[in-house]
Amino acid sequence: MRKSAFIAFVFTFQTLFVSAQDFSYDKKMGAEAAKQVEAMMGIYPDSALKEYVADVGNRLVSVLGKAPVDFRFHLIDSPDPNAFALPGGYIYITRGLLVLVNNEAELANVMGHEMIHVTKRHSVKQQQKGILPAILQIPGAIIGMASPELGKVINTPINFGSQVFLSSYSRSQEKEADRFGVKLASKAGYDPSKLAVILHSLSEDIERMTGEAEKKSYLASHPYTPKREAYLKDEIETLDWTPKKAIAQSKEDVYKKLEGMVFGQNPQQGIFDDSLFMHPDMDFAIIFPSKWQTTNIPVAVGATERNGEAQIVFQLDNSGKGPDSLGLAFVDYLKKNNLKPKESKSMTINGNPGYFVSLQDDSGEKTIEVQSWWLKMNDLVFHMVGVGYPEHSKAINNTVQSIRKLTKEEKAGISSLKIHFAKANKGESLEDFSKRTNNTWDIETMVIMNNLEPGAKLTSGQVLKIAVEEPYF
Ligand SMILES: [Zn+2]
Repeated sequence: MRKSAFIAFVFTFQTLFVSAQDFSYDKKMGAEAAKQVEAMMGIYPDSALKEYVADVGNRLVSVLGKAPVDFRFHLIDSPDPNAFALPGGYIYITRGLLVLVNNEAELANVMGHEMIHVTKRHSVKQQQKGILPAILQIPGAIIGMASPELGKVINTPINFGSQVFLSSYSRSQEKEADRFGVKLASKAGYDPSKLAVILHSLSEDIERMTGEAEKKSYLASHPYTPKREAYLKDEIETLDWTPKKAIAQSKEDVYKKLEGMVFGQNPQQGIFDDSLFMHPDMDFAIIFPSKWQTTNIPVAVGATERNGEAQIVFQLDNSGKGPDSLGLAFVDYLKKNNLKPKESKSMTINGNPGYFVSLQDDSGEKTIEVQSWWLKMNDLVFHMVGVGYPEHSKAINNTVQSIRKLTKEEKAGISSLKIHFAKANKGESLEDFSKRTNNTWDIETMVIMNNLEPGAKLTSGQVLKIAVEEPYF
């Protein structure tokens, strides 16, 4: 959740029919989708790092010949390892993917792959999954009616997270992107065999994060990495290429580019500690129902009941209006749509002024309750919406009642992990190295992030990436 985030769109990301159209259609559609991706997922605010990624991308552009679109390269502020492209030339890399990079060629090959999806105009299958988990049991129309804003968030079909990497295209399109992607990277002087290296790291990292083997956690349409590695090997053998000096030549040069990058949750967006959500910049804490699935995106933070029977979403209202006028405007809106609120009243939560409106939908088999609060706190106005079956109303209410300022101790305890690097001593064990350098990664994570052989002895001066905990304030 971010202070500056806003929603002001309806997302219509339809299947592309690419047959007889020129790239102007891609550009128009991509520009629309890019606005939404950036608002929904958030851009990582590090201009030097973004510039580096763009420089690598522009090297690929320079050997593309006549590029049909203007490529744009962006960093997404997400801990999930992911890279994706939008029609019209928008290429996105997450910081969760960047942290896996040990060699510039790995990054260049991933970017090459994504660029080929754009130039070959691979059609993106419409994504059914919303940005928040869908409330399975409750018709979307009710949510849209109860809160047009919330309806947009829930019904916005952007896939995100580690499971979408390369998953929304057909297998043959993926293969084409792999083949032409490594070709493009090698033409720019990057070692094409490095795509397999980063794919391997990516698959290990997803396994680390999900605790599942890749096969299980990927969507069914995703080409299984070992298969890709095999056909990539055949493809690479046919390539004739000349290495060129990278922008960041050594491992240390690459790590210098990554230095200071956030790893894992970014406190700027607020962080979860189990079901407790803390936002240091907006100075509030809130406890979501335990065991509900939580989601934090720039435009909202929320939780969904495990069986999809209820959902609660918090957003910031940036209209400049107070709770009373927002609540009464909503009642007006309901009346215009021939809906009668069950309750409509001013109220307070922990001394903060607010307004509450509820309504009930009895048209279906089961009653659905919609509750809406506007609350002024810390000079901000929050809009909180709970939707679901009556048996979940108590959990929703408890969540809303739990909102409060952060304690001094909580503020002092909020920290983030930042990427740094350090040099090993001869024969040093990973355990000793980590202790000496205040590295928080466990051995398994160290092995994945640095692409090490498990159990390998460190050599004198060997440079390794680490993650060091730093207090947020
Ligand atoms: Zn792909």
